Amino acid sequence: MTDSARRVAFLQEMGLGPIWSRRDIVSGTVSEFQEAPALEQVQPVPSVPATALIPTADAVQEQSVVQVTPRVSVDASVQHMDWLQLQSAVSGCRQCTLCHSRTQTVFGTGDQKARWLFVGEGPGRNEDIQGEPFVGPAGKLLDNMMGAMGLKRGENTYIANIVKCRPTDGNRKDRPPALDEATACMPYLERQIALIDPTIIVALGKTAALSLLKLDPATPVSRLRGSVHRYGDKPVIVTYHPAYLLRNLADKGKTWADLCLAMRSFETAD
Ligand code: SF4
Repeated sequence: MTDSARRVAFLQEMGLGPIWSRRDIVSGTVSEFQEAPALEQVQPVPSVPATALIPTADAVQEQSVVQVTPRVSVDASVQHMDWLQLQSAVSGCRQCTLCHSRTQTVFGTGDQKARWLFVGEGPGRNEDIQGEPFVGPAGKLLDNMMGAMGLKRGENTYIANIVKCRPTDGNRKDRPPALDEATACMPYLERQIALIDPTIIVALGKTAALSLLKLDPATPVSRLRGSVHRYGDKPVIVTYHPAYLLRNLADKGKTWADLCLAMRSFETAD
């Protein structure tokens, strides 16, 4: 299978099919992406590789940029750790109550010098069992999202979560991490980001976005999509969490628009 055919297959796995035309990507604005036409209204151009769809620097500069001032702080006890020290600290961590119900910590996985960092909210049941982020159906969808971008898990990509232990409710069902849990765990992710030094960060879902950007928890994710945010000097693109997309198929098209924005931002990032 050629790279182009593989990319089309990934898009189809995302439920998008070959829907993107070169004209839409190169000349479109962010608002146009947000209001992308229904899939059946778009003429398929399956032979255009994603890398050819990345617009110029001028096009990226046309995007509105949300001005935020994230608190880029790293807890003193971890800010000088190397990878092994950090992994050891996480595996034995009891900084919040999530340590009581975990099977194991889920540190993160991928290329430690990756230029692409994907951040989710926390381990679910499958991740807690296997010790790796984004496994199971949501992980397969994330792999397909990366594949559609010409990326691959473990190759120039790193995947991590805001919290390293599985949050559950009283019925042992997965839930988003609470603010205090996310705050307790953030120094580990901040140190991972410092060690990786990625070119760009993709925040998967509301919890990841709000924690990375230090925004009010009441901020709706719809206000965060379609713009380039900043974590320090690094661009942050916000999109939906793959688990959400599995339940809300209609938003896959919006997610692809977000990933196109990420590819354009990556091309113009330092
Ligand atoms: S979620 Fe993070 S802070 Fe809480 S116990 Fe696990 S590793 Fe420690």
